[in-house]
Amino acid sequence: VNYAKIEFVKSAFKMAQLPEEPLPEIAFAGRSNVGKSSLINRLVNRKGLVKVSARPGKTQSLNYFLVDEKLYLVDLPGYGFAKVSKKLQDEWQGLVTEYLSTSPTLRCVVVLIDLRHLLKAQDRELVEWLRMRGRPFIIVYTKRDKLSNNEQAKQAANLDAALGLNKQERVLFSAKTGEGKEALMAAIATFLG
Ligand code: GDP
Repeated sequence: VNYAKIEFVKSAFKMAQLPEEPLPEIAFAGRSNVGKSSLINRLVNRKGLVKVSARPGKTQSLNYFLVDEKLYLVDLPGYGFAKVSKKLQDEWQGLVTEYLSTSPTLRCVVVLIDLRHLLKAQDRELVEWLRMRGRPFIIVYTKRDKLSNNEQAKQAANLDAALGLNKQERVLFSAKTGEGKEALMAAIATFLG
């Protein structure tokens, strides 16, 4: 895929609404505000495709985008927004967990983590859960443009250690400058074969 053609397909609020066409899927997960919408827009060169900073915690759907008529990008609802009710959080878990556990077409989960922060429990839990299940994932550290090169290296090393990652297993990304986009595209391509 070269991300030339991209279209919104649908929002799925339950498993029964997932698309029936068996295309490979790449899912995107991360805390609310991590920069997920911005990253997807940058990846596909379409500024307004995914709404940036839509009210956090509101979207509880899996949003499907069709790329070049042969790949789905699946925007998962952001997690960890404190103001969201317990009920809504449980719903997030329910749908997303079932999708991540059972999808036969999901090739890889892109997990976004803010490069500026310490690792949060929910990020760790998601990564450990994916490991346990043998679900392939790519880690992306977001908003690198907000830090100096020195700070980027320091923060990335901290997060790598906290997650038990090698340098090769993650991408440093900026939706603002586009840095890391090629590396992310290459990483995704390895799961599409
Ligand atoms: P989402 O909730 O994960 O979808 O996050 P958004 O994409 O809506 O981004 C949240 C906020 O962070 C917005 O104000 C974005 O403009 C900002 N943001 C996202 N990515 C970057 C980045 O790479 N660099 C900078 N400087 N700001 C970013």
